Amino acid sequence: MDFRFTPEEEAFRADVKEFLKQELKPGWDDEFDAESELGIEAHGDFAKSFNRKLAERGWLAIAWPEEYGGRDASVMQQVVYSEEMAYAGAPVGFNMGVAWVGPSLMLYGTDEQKQEFIPKITSLEHTWCTLYSEPTAGSDLAAIQTRAVRDGDDFVINGQKTWTTGAHRSNWGWLAARTDPDVPKHKGLSMFLVPMDAPGVTIQPLVNMAGNHGFNEVFFEDVRIPAKYLVGKENMGWYMLAVALDFERSSIAGSARVRRSLKELVEFTREYPQFVENKPAIRNRLADIAIEVEIGAALSYRVASLQADGKAPNYEATIAKLYSTELIQRFASTGMELLGMYGPLHPKSKYAKLKGGMERGYQLAVSATIAGGTSEVMKTIGAIRGLGLPRP
Ligand SMILES: Cc1cc2nc3c(=O)[nH]c(=O)nc-3n(C[C@H](O)[C@H](O)[C@H](O)COP(=O)(O)OP(=O)(O)OC[C@H]3O[C@@H](n4cnc5c(N)ncnc54)[C@H](O)[C@@H]3O)c2cc1C
Repeated sequence: MDFRFTPEEEAFRADVKEFLKQELKPGWDDEFDAESELGIEAHGDFAKSFNRKLAERGWLAIAWPEEYGGRDASVMQQVVYSEEMAYAGAPVGFNMGVAWVGPSLMLYGTDEQKQEFIPKITSLEHTWCTLYSEPTAGSDLAAIQTRAVRDGDDFVINGQKTWTTGAHRSNWGWLAARTDPDVPKHKGLSMFLVPMDAPGVTIQPLVNMAGNHGFNEVFFEDVRIPAKYLVGKENMGWYMLAVALDFERSSIAGSARVRRSLKELVEFTREYPQFVENKPAIRNRLADIAIEVEIGAALSYRVASLQADGKAPNYEATIAKLYSTELIQRFASTGMELLGMYGPLHPKSKYAKLKGGMERGYQLAVSATIAGGTSEVMKTIGAIRGLGLPRP
């Protein structure tokens, strides 16, 4: 493991910072929709044009080959890029196409699928949602019951998905469905690409406790898709799912965002010292969080460093995810306590401090340790695969 960045990587960091300085002028985020959970939607047209600029530079999926709209960047350049985007709070949203649909298609897709789908992720023509969870299959994901049944040249899909982030804004879905009900549950799953406007797909909003419509329920009723949208081998979906989940959990963004929010909070206390005067416990917690941000970054660098060496991280990614999402919650609690009575004020309140970001952050932080796998599940994976403990 070598966590030092090379001179080329540092030069690239300087390029990204300069780009962000040019594009995100002070006050760029004054206008945003506090009720939107998704970065891109929260910043409307500004975010769309910002993402188009990223796409034009080949930065949207920077580590992808140039033929697919990327820049062939190294894993560490990808880390630098993600870190700077998250630190700047850039409106890049959570692009599932870039994060795991594209990488999974590169590994398991047919040539036809690669040509049809991958370039449209980087050109922003396709927006993807992820259809894994069901009312009775979340942590126990292999218990998925949505069925895909072969019928001539098609598959016919029936079932229900839930917590589908951005389904209402996506034109394609990355779907896990059961293709063989008569084998052990891990062995009968397959992955599919599903057009979200196919007849029989119904999307219903789920509004979270912060009042945001980010995720949805998605119902499939006799939805017919061509068999060419099966990804990889039939009934081998579980293995693709596991790899896609590792892509999902290796992000550096969590600790980079806390680093930025901590900086803003500390600057705020310099302007309004009364919020930390005679509060040694809060001051200590701010110092702890500053240290924990470094630990979170180091854990993510470890994952990237393994990937750069051509190794597949698994428990390392789950530990990084566990640590950074719990850090987000520790920071949110500390910030709320520091702001006292001002903490719970909505961004629309004229009395809100820090643009009401702490109230939003505190409510949204709750889901961080659930989305992408709960902390309990991350700990179990760490115990089994990392420490070699027996399965519970
Ligand atoms: C903001 C957000 C966005 C999401 N987006 C998507 C999405 O786009 N697509 C998608 O498919 N899903 C999405 N999800 C769903 C997410 O993946 C699941 O919520 C998560 O995997 C947990 O599953 P569950 O909700 O069914 O909870 P359950 O699995 O029912 O868990 C309930 C509780 O029991 C605990 N538990 C369960 N099993 C065990 C065990 N074996 N050992 C110890 N504790 C256990 C859990 O840790 C949890 O505390 C999203 C969730 C959130 C919060």
